[in-house]
Amino acid sequence: MAKVTIKVNKEKCIGCGSCFATAPEIFAIDIDGKAKVTLTETEDQVLIDKAKMAMDMCPNGAIEVIES
Ligand code: SF4
Repeated sequence: MAKVTIKVNKEKCIGCGSCFATAPEIFAIDIDGKAKVTLTETEDQVLIDKAKMAMDMCPNGAIEVIES
């Protein structure tokens, strides 16, 4: 099964909250009001799909889901 690494680019994040709402297992709000990743790697297909959905919904292209 594929493993992915999930990242947030803080420079691009505008703190809209979409990713926390879409995938709270993976993203949370940081003290600066921007997103942070709480699950940086996973092989769980359900969580991979949620991470990709959050990436697609991010209004500023701040989320990366990298297959490794
Ligand atoms: Fe930041 Fe994108 Fe998450 Fe919004 S969806 S909080 S812009 S990473």
